[in-house]
Amino acid sequence: MAPLLDPWKNATQQLYDACDLLGISKELRQYLEQPNKVLKVKLPVKMDDGNIRIFTGFRSQHNNDRGPYKGGIRFFDPDGGVEYMEREVMALSAWMTWKCAIIDVPFGGAKGGVFVNPKKEKLSAGEMERITRRFAYAISEIIGPKKDIPAPDVYTTSTEMTQIMDTFSKLHGTYEPSVITGKPINQGGSLARDVATGLGCVYCIREAVKSIKMKISGACIIIQGFGNAGIFVAEYLEKMGAKIIAVSDSKGAVINKSGFDIKKLIEYKQKNKSVVGFSKSNKITNHELLTTKCDILVPAALENQIDSHIASNVKCKIIAEAANGPTLPDADEILHNRKITTIPDILANSGGVYISYLEWVQNNIGYYWSKEEIISKMEKKIIQSFHEVLTISKKNKVDMRKAAMMVAVNKVVDAFQTKGIWP
Ligand code: NAD
Repeated sequence: MAPLLDPWKNATQQLYDACDLLGISKELRQYLEQPNKVLKVKLPVKMDDGNIRIFTGFRSQHNNDRGPYKGGIRFFDPDGGVEYMEREVMALSAWMTWKCAIIDVPFGGAKGGVFVNPKKEKLSAGEMERITRRFAYAISEIIGPKKDIPAPDVYTTSTEMTQIMDTFSKLHGTYEPSVITGKPINQGGSLARDVATGLGCVYCIREAVKSIKMKISGACIIIQGFGNAGIFVAEYLEKMGAKIIAVSDSKGAVINKSGFDIKKLIEYKQKNKSVVGFSKSNKITNHELLTTKCDILVPAALENQIDSHIASNVKCKIIAEAANGPTLPDADEILHNRKITTIPDILANSGGVYISYLEWVQNNIGYYWSKEEIISKMEKKIIQSFHEVLTISKKNKVDMRKAAMMVAVNKVVDAFQTKGIWP
C-alpha cells in the first residue's frame, strides 16, 4: 500500500480501525469523524516595510462531547500549502479529542494555525505580534474559557499565548486568563507547563521500558526534533542515566555515539539556532537518524516521519511519539509485527494537555499549586492512562495505538450517548 501522506486520512483510518474493533455503527463513525466546525480566516497584517500581507488561519473544532474544545495553535507552512494545512489542523483536532479522553481531562479536541513560518521568514517581534493578535481577533467569537481553550504548538510560545489572552480579554472587557494555556507564570501560567509534554513522554517511556523488562539507565536514545517537546525528553532521560546519541532539528541531524551533554547541546542550540555543528558530532541524514540502532526512538518534530520503509528499517525497541502523527498507519502494522512497542502520540504527549488542564483549573479557581504538586498529579494520571491502554492492548492483542483509540472512542461515545442529540 502507498504511504498515506494526508494526516486527515491517517486520523480517519485510525478512528475506523478502533470503530471496527469496537463494533461501532456507520452512522456513529460519521459523527465521530467529521469536525463540528472548521473556521478559515483571512488575516490582513501590516508588515515592518509598510506593505500589507494577507495570511490565512484556521481553527478546527472537532468534538466537544466531553467538555470545551482544547488544542494548540501552530505557526507553520507545511509543504502541501494552505489546503494541506486545513486538513492537518482537522487531523490534529481529532487527535486532541482522543488525547483528552485518554488522559481523562474534561475537554474536547481542537487545533488551529496560521500558514506562516516565522523562523524561515525571520519575522520581527512586532510582525509576530500583529499576526497573533489579528488571528486572536479573527477567532475570538469561537474561543473562550468555556468554549475553546487554545495552547502553544509548533513555533508558538508563551509570548503569543499572552498576546491572545490579552486580545481576547480586551475585546470582552474582562480579565480572561483561562481562555488559553501555556502562558508565562506572571500571566497566570502553570508551573511545570514548559516541561509537561517532554516529562509526560518520559513517564510513558519509563513504564514501557519496565513492561518489556528493559532499563532506562544506559539505554541509547535518538530524538528527532529538538524543540520544546524534544529538549525536555532529552533532559529527563539523561537525568535517568540514558545516553542521547543523535538529535535533529529543521536544519539537520547530528550523532555522537558516546552520548551528548544535553545542557551544553541546549546552550549550543540557543546560540547557533541549530544542533548542527555541535562539538564532537557528525552530521547525518534524517533517514540515518531514524534508522540508526538505538533502544528508544523519539519522534518529536512533525507528522508523517515514519512510513512503511522507515518502519521496516528502524532498529529500536520502543518508539515514543512526542510529536503528533509521526507514524503512518501502514507503518504501525509493520512495527507491531516487528514487536516494536509504539507509545502513540495521543498517550505519549498527553502530559502537555494534562498540565494545560491544571493551568485552566488554577485560573478558574484563582489558586496556584506548587511545581511538585503539579508534577505529581500529572505523573499519577499518565501512569494510570498508560496502564489502561497497555491492558487493553494485551487483552485484544492489538498495538498500543489501536488500544488507545479504543479507550478514547469509548469515552467520547459514552458522553455523546448520555447527552443525546439536540436540537
Ligand atoms: P517546537 O517548535 O518547540 O519544536 C519543533 C522542533 O522540530 C524544532 O527543533 C524544529 O527545528 C524541529 N523540526 C522542524 N522540522 C523538522 C524536520 N523536518 N526534521 C527534524 N526536526 C524538525 O515545537 P514542539 O512544541 O516541540 O512540538 C513538536 C511536536 O510535539 C509537534 O508535533 C507538536 O504538535 C507536538 N506536541 C507538542 C506539545 C507541547 O506542549 N509543546 C504538546 C503535544 C504535542
